[in-house]
Amino acid sequence: MRAEKLFGLLGYPIGHSLSPVMQNDQFSNQGLPFFYHAFNVPTENLKEAVEGFKALGISGFNVTVPHKIEVMKYLDEVDEEAQIIGAVNTVVNQNDKWIGYNTDGRGYVESLLNKTGDTLKDSNILVIGAGGAARAVVTALSFEGVRHLAITNRTYSKAESLKERVPHHSNISVLTTEEAEKETPAYDIIINTTSVGMSPETDKTPWRTDNLKENCLCSDLIYNPLKTKWLAEAESNGADTLNGVGMFVGQGAFAFYKWTGVWPDLNRMNDVVMQHLGGK
Ligand code: NAP
Repeated sequence: MRAEKLFGLLGYPIGHSLSPVMQNDQFSNQGLPFFYHAFNVPTENLKEAVEGFKALGISGFNVTVPHKIEVMKYLDEVDEEAQIIGAVNTVVNQNDKWIGYNTDGRGYVESLLNKTGDTLKDSNILVIGAGGAARAVVTALSFEGVRHLAITNRTYSKAESLKERVPHHSNISVLTTEEAEKETPAYDIIINTTSVGMSPETDKTPWRTDNLKENCLCSDLIYNPLKTKWLAEAESNGADTLNGVGMFVGQGAFAFYKWTGVWPDLNRMNDVVMQHLGGK
């Protein structure tokens, strides 16, 4: 079957990405004659790749490491949330203009709400880390209107800068590691946005789990491994847990929606990703 629309992914290296299998499965499941391909593009070729995509009539693309910031230079517009985050992961061709969005934070909040089954308005949340993923998560959570959000990071100044990026931040505080550790029993949800515990350094943990609030939800953005040592420890201390698969699927779902106007089958996307990660 001839693909009527083409979508891409720009990253470097790109071999590991599950986006092509997830998006192509969803296109065929929805009966859409579209095709998604991952392009391995080093930074020095990024400008030409984005221009080439336009020349070829590509309908939209995702952007991953290391291009999420750099790509913004080559777009015609960047939406408000992506500007606050300072990075783009989804681009849509609208009337021959490249419009950039960031669906990482929305994808994360969607997975969190699927888990909690509730609004987050009464939640007291601790975010560990202040890198790119934290920027997306904190921005989306601030749009969601959580009761209180604390950010702690190894490099304190980066947590302060993150708070300043968010327009309405009166309910956001920045804590040192020592302060946040002391306050750990007060949090309903703790989110690890650092890379601590990610493969291959799977024996590391980003936070203690011996003083968690009862019914605390520990959420790790990492999905390789599916269950980090931190999540395993949290579970054995009675916490509920959430890994990073939902965020990955969620960001892909919002990208799919922006490209097609159709909301995808999230369960099916999740199953495809889990199959490829060797999970259930
Ligand atoms: P990043 O921009 O490089 O930020 C890394 C963060 O981790 C920073 O806050 C950094 O602290 C902290 N960190 C790194 N090593 C540390 C250590 N040894 N001790 C304490 N803190 C440490 O990376 P990112 O793009 O935000 O990605 C972070 C994680 O999120 C990665 O594991 C990535 O795979 C995951 N992620 C998952 C998804 C998903 O879809 N599930 C999407 C995006 C990212 P400093 O500021 O002090 O350096």
